Amino acid sequence: MKQIDIKQLRFITYLRKSSDSEDKQVASIPQQRKELSEFAKREGLKVVEIIEETHTAFEPGRPQFNRMMQMIDDGKADAVLAWNATRISRNSLDGGLFIYKIDQGKIKAFKTRGNTYYNTPEDKFALNIDFTVAKKSSDDLSEAVLRGNRYKFNEKREWGGVAKPGYLNKLNPLTKEAYIDTDPERFPLIQKAFELIIKKMYTPMQALVDLNNRCKYKTRRTKKLGGRPMSKASFYRMLSDSYYCGIMKRKVDGEYQEIKGSHKAMMNEKEFEQLQIRLGKKGKPRYSKKEFAYKEVLKCAECEGSITAEEKWQIICPNCKTKFHKGLKANECPDCHTLIENMQNPKILHYVFYHCTKRVHPNCSQGSITLDDLETEITNKLGKFEIDEGFRDWAINYLNELNDHEETSQTAIKSNLLTQVKDVDSQLRNLLRLRISPQNVNSDPEQQKYYSDEEKRLLSEKKAINKEVEKVDKRLEEWFVQSKETFDFACSARYQFATGDAKVKTYVLSKLGSNLTIKGKKLCISGDKPYFLIEKGKKEIADIVASLEPAKQLEIASHLLGFEPISSAWRRGWDSNPR
Ligand SMILES: [Zn+2]
Ligand SMILES: [Zn+2]
Repeated sequence: MKQIDIKQLRFITYLRKSSDSEDKQVASIPQQRKELSEFAKREGLKVVEIIEETHTAFEPGRPQFNRMMQMIDDGKADAVLAWNATRISRNSLDGGLFIYKIDQGKIKAFKTRGNTYYNTPEDKFALNIDFTVAKKSSDDLSEAVLRGNRYKFNEKREWGGVAKPGYLNKLNPLTKEAYIDTDPERFPLIQKAFELIIKKMYTPMQALVDLNNRCKYKTRRTKKLGGRPMSKASFYRMLSDSYYCGIMKRKVDGEYQEIKGSHKAMMNEKEFEQLQIRLGKKGKPRYSKKEFAYKEVLKCAECEGSITAEEKWQIICPNCKTKFHKGLKANECPDCHTLIENMQNPKILHYVFYHCTKRVHPNCSQGSITLDDLETEITNKLGKFEIDEGFRDWAINYLNELNDHEETSQTAIKSNLLTQVKDVDSQLRNLLRLRISPQNVNSDPEQQKYYSDEEKRLLSEKKAINKEVEKVDKRLEEWFVQSKETFDFACSARYQFATGDAKVKTYVLSKLGSNLTIKGKKLCISGDKPYFLIEKGKKEIADIVASLEPAKQLEIASHLLGFEPISSAWRRGWDSNPR
């Protein structure tokens, strides 16, 4: 697939401004236009049309978006360029259609400043997510990738400079390429020292003493230095270096970027974060940089304000049992003034809360929900519409059949409509013939007015019929796209949710409804997402099966009959609310 020569494609550049509630990082239309033009020039892309949208992408039915899709259907273009994925779509219908065009090969490539998506399963899945979840940093990142600065850092996922303690610089004798390996002698010793602090009662200083005195740690020998115990400064530097939990940091263009390295880590991220709290003022907590899932797709049910996430760390002082909040400035117990870094095995409590920002309505009365409670709610809701793979495959097959059937009847409707168009056309021709016939050339004004009124009427009739034809085409396609996507999703949602990162989790949540709110510490789902229909259909089947005799139940359950109620519930839902 990736053999496509991008320079042979005909691109549409699609510009859309940001609404207020969206990312403030997205550039204005003139800026998007300017930068994307330069980008296209640099990359040698052939742009056949620039389309500018003023409608929001949260609702389907944007006139310019539809024009773009039409051009692609007509074969006038076969690739799209946009500032980022969320410019194209922030609602599932448009997103689904866009991906369907990629499926069909009508869109051969979709390019943003940082990414190119092709017709591969991985790209399409990533695109689905990128349509839903806007990340500030992904914008920043694409910008940098564009400039080519972070390429090596991101692609190689490897530390470039001198190896940190516990690791070694090595050279591949064949390729002469430098790489980083673990230091078999020092790696286990350092890891052990970390463990003493994280899992045992040791303070950082006690762990360092153990490392140097009991384990006889000696630094790596270089020409002039080395062979010495580890200094306090290097030890503390290591303790607050996220490299040791697998995350590399680099300052690029004046800004820190984090990426998961390919090297072997000495502790996990959670342990690293706890350690930072334990280090008191010497620690480097990551929470200002962290991405919290879900908040982009949630709203407050009471005041419709945005939802924000907040992380809290509390420490229970081992000496006087005082519980206190570990803010950025707190270094000691407020009661007995023991320094945090000197506390032996303090109890550390960690919470993530979601709550209304109250920016719109400062008097909003809603409290907060913890991350654990929120995720339990989401998992429960996901379970309600989960279907198994066999069922999904069958459902999609069934949909195909249904679609074929639908297509036949729609084709009949369409040909009927097209006949009507022909009819109107011939009436128009007749009218024209009458008008220009010799006996009518000098007819009275009244007669002329009649002709022109009649012509107007026929033209508008023709326009209306053509619109109907368009609707028939669109409807069929949209129905199938959304149904297939729904069943695919219903099959894998819980697994994706359990195993995905913050971005994937947010995406899964967003699929549950178009209106996701928090009220009274509960997640409320409403809106027009079709998953409720699956849930409803599942219940209908269960009811039918339960009403049968046991022997019959087995027979029925193993047959496909059970699907009929779903499809009818599905169909009804779709018909009453096609958008
Ligand atoms: Zn609120
Ligand atoms: Zn204390």
